[in-house]
Amino acid sequence: MVKVGVIGLQGDVSEHIDAAKKALENLGVSGEVVWLRKPEQLEGISAIIIPGGESTTISRLMVENGLLEPVRKLGEEGLPIMGTCAGLIMLSKEVIGATSEQKFLALLDVRVNRNAYGRQVDSFEAPVKLAFSDEPFTGVFIRAPRIVELLSDRVKPIAWLGDRVVGVEQDNLIGLEFHPELTEDTRVHEYFLGNVI
Ligand code: GLN
Repeated sequence: MVKVGVIGLQGDVSEHIDAAKKALENLGVSGEVVWLRKPEQLEGISAIIIPGGESTTISRLMVENGLLEPVRKLGEEGLPIMGTCAGLIMLSKEVIGATSEQKFLALLDVRVNRNAYGRQVDSFEAPVKLAFSDEPFTGVFIRAPRIVELLSDRVKPIAWLGDRVVGVEQDNLIGLEFHPELTEDTRVHEYFLGNVI
């Protein structure tokens, strides 16, 4: 049985849990989606989602709860991990605008700028083009980080806002600037979880 864990220390956790459950249902897969707070819960895990929220807080709490190193190790070993917004920041190898104590999983070969969108456009919705679907997806951007550079050929763009890359995939990893869990549309979760099963 599939076990999906949403890192549940801060941020929009319940929205991701609901979206992942709905996606599993739509894929016709039986599985559970758990609120992941402790390293013990990583036992038997099939995929991990890191939600949006505040990356400085998520980072601190992942360290305090002993999750940062085990999750990094699982990611290195090929466990599927999807990070949205603050979750993308957690996955990234290089982060512009990080605080000095902020720790990252540093798995995804991208450079992101944490608060790049600036004040007046710090939250907006816009149609995003997905690599795996013909219909546009409503991208919800909330004080989003910006992917400013892809650092290797391993990273493939999977989502665009105009001609800018706003979502990437690298082997087992997906990182998105926007929040797919804040829409009723589960195409992104289905794409991610479709790779797990
Ligand atoms: N700007 C936030 C951060 O740095 C991310 C915002 C979000 O996840 N909605 O953590």
